[in-house]
Amino acid sequence: MAARKPLIAGNWKMNLNHLEAIALVQKVAFALPEKYFAKVDVAVIPPFTDIRSVQSIVDGDKLLLTYGAQDVSVHDSGAYTGEISGSMLAKLGCTFVVVGHSERRQYHTEDDATVLAKAKQALKNDLTPIVCIGEGLGVREAGTHVEFNLEQLRGSLKGLSAEEISKVVIAYEPVWAIGTGKVASAADAQEVCGAIRGELEKLASPEVAAGVRVLYGGSVNAKNIGELIGQPDIDGALVGGASLKGDEFATLSAIA
Ligand code: PEP
Repeated sequence: MAARKPLIAGNWKMNLNHLEAIALVQKVAFALPEKYFAKVDVAVIPPFTDIRSVQSIVDGDKLLLTYGAQDVSVHDSGAYTGEISGSMLAKLGCTFVVVGHSERRQYHTEDDATVLAKAKQALKNDLTPIVCIGEGLGVREAGTHVEFNLEQLRGSLKGLSAEEISKVVIAYEPVWAIGTGKVASAADAQEVCGAIRGELEKLASPEVAAGVRVLYGGSVNAKNIGELIGQPDIDGALVGGASLKGDEFATLSAIA
C-alpha cells in the first residue's frame, strides 16, 4: 500500500475573529514542534475573515502549519455577492478547501452536484478539496450507511479523472457524530472508510485509491484519535470543537 501521510485538519467553523485566530495559531505552533510535521500534515481551516491573519503568522514565522477555507464559490468571479472564489483563496496561500460539509449540505441545501462543482473549482486553482460525506442518524439506524456514503461519494466526484481524484481528500463525517460528543467506534469508522477506498478503486484505480487520504470526522479529540488513526483506512481527522483548543489540537496532531 502507498504510504499516506496523515492529515489533521481543524475546522473552526464560525468561531474566532482575526485576533483570536492569531492567538490560536501561535498557541498551536508553540505546542507542536517542527519535528512532528515530518510525520503528519496539520492544517487549520478558519473563517474567511481570518485567513489573511493566519497567512501572516504562517509566512512570517515560517510555520509548517498549512491552512485552508471552509467553502468556495462554484463561480470563477463576477456578480455573486458574498461569494469567495478559488483564485482568491489560492492567492492567500490556502492549501485546502472543505467542500460539502454536512452543515453546508443541511443549512444551504448543497447537493452532490454543487459539492462536485466546488471540488472542481478547488482543483482548477490548485487547492486540495476536502470532500465531506456522511450519513444522518436515521440512515445509520436503518443500516444503509455504507451504500448511502458511497452514493454521496460517487455524486460528489462524478466525472473527475483519475488524476483529479488522486488530488482530493475525502472526509467521512457521520452527521450524528458531529458536535455531539458521540464518536463513531473505530470499527464503524473503518467500515465506511474502507468502503470509500474500495469505491475509489472503481472510480479511479487501485493505485490512486491507495494514495488518497480518507479522514474521519465527528467528535475527534486527543483521547480517541489514537484508536481511529490506528485503523488501516483512516488517514487522519477533520476536527471541529477540539480544534479550537490549542493544546488539545496540538496534542492530537502529535498523536496522529
Ligand atoms: C466537523 O464539523 O467537521 C466536526 C468533525 O466537528 P466536531 O469535531 O466538533 O464533531
